[in-house]
Amino acid sequence: MKLLEDRIMKDGLALSETILKVDSFINHQVDLTLMQEIGKVFASIYKDKGITRVFTIESSGIAPAAFTALELGVPMVILKKQTSKILVGDVYQTNITSFTKGTNYELTLSAKYISAGDKILVIDDFLANGEAASGAAKLVEMGGGSVVGIGILIEKSFQKGRKRLQDAGYQVTSLARIAKLSRGKVELTEADV
Ligand code: 5GP
Repeated sequence: MKLLEDRIMKDGLALSETILKVDSFINHQVDLTLMQEIGKVFASIYKDKGITRVFTIESSGIAPAAFTALELGVPMVILKKQTSKILVGDVYQTNITSFTKGTNYELTLSAKYISAGDKILVIDDFLANGEAASGAAKLVEMGGGSVVGIGILIEKSFQKGRKRLQDAGYQVTSLARIAKLSRGKVELTEADV
């Protein structure tokens, strides 16, 4: 997606060989016009797939997921990051290792917001090792739903997430794909859209 790729090249900050900082337009200050365009692109790709809910992971996926869900006319569900297992209520949980923090959390979904037969589009800001997206897919399946697609804003293609998700049978749609990062330098490769 040219608009996103151009923005990454203009405002993305490569902090290291593995971390891209995008806090001026995605995850601290948020460019809602860009998020709206992203929502339109994901919706146009998945509009005929019978999506019933858009899932995302708090908090950076919320803005693009919201616009995608709005375009598709379906609810958005935010998967919660809990620091410990909650023992009350009817929830699905799976343990995730955070790429940026290196800590673990319990990705959590209330059973109220998934039904057998639900067709889910998962949206997240980054794809690195595929921990978060795989965990989201696992929760969908624990609840009896199926994952129709995984939409990613920025895939770091030199990390293993895409292969991991595709090997598990999921369709991955990445709007921008990074071939290489080094301090102060971003190299893109061809995106899916
Ligand atoms: P994964 O679970 O695929 O290993 O990592 C994806 C998650 O880690 C995303 O939800 C995102 O919040 C975070 N993440 C991974 N890589 C980066 C990065 O380079 N920059 C930022 N800002 N977040 C990242």
